[in-house]
Amino acid sequence: MFNLILFGPPGSGKGTQSANIVEKYGLVHLSTGDLLRHERAMKTPLGIEAQQFIDKGQLVPDEVVIGMISSALDANTDAPGFLFDGFPRTVAQAEALDRLLDLKRASINLVLFLEVDDEELIKRLVNRGKTSGRTDDADENIQRKRQEVYKNETLPVAGHYSKHKKVVQVNGMGDVEEIFGQLAQQIDRRMDSYVG
Ligand code: AMP
Repeated sequence: MFNLILFGPPGSGKGTQSANIVEKYGLVHLSTGDLLRHERAMKTPLGIEAQQFIDKGQLVPDEVVIGMISSALDANTDAPGFLFDGFPRTVAQAEALDRLLDLKRASINLVLFLEVDDEELIKRLVNRGKTSGRTDDADENIQRKRQEVYKNETLPVAGHYSKHKKVVQVNGMGDVEEIFGQLAQQIDRRMDSYVG
């Protein structure tokens, strides 16, 4: 199994690039944001609980998202690998993911870190808010909260994986195709050394 985390702040392009990566490499895409929005649309108890956190720009509790990921891993036993998008968002989630993968004799092979500067992030989220229909995109205060939560709670996840030399930074500013080219180059390199 080849397992990849696409890492970066809200608005860094993880969703867009995940679609490109999944198409090229056939990995199973696991986005906790998408899974939570699906639960919310279905009005499940989990979705209703999560909504309060999402609408404030806060993180949904670790045990909720870890449970969702655990179920998704079990539901995809034939997967050639997973692309994690928007997960893990705390060090506790990263540690839980390591344990879940360990049970499958697998691990995270690569963390691709999309770097985009703060002003550009807010600009992108404001634009996305006009079309995405996401309440947490439309409000600038919620966006700022999400960036703050990212810095305080999520950024340390990169530290967790850099201890194991798994993190590669990629410039996330500019043309979508160009950025994808750089991501693909890093994935190919890591896949070659993993297989060989
Ligand atoms: P996203 O689509 O990844 O930007 O996620 C939207 C919102 O869902 C976030 O602002 C959080 O409220 C929640 N969320 C998504 N993934 C996670 C996660 N791994 N841990 C906690 N909350 C999450």
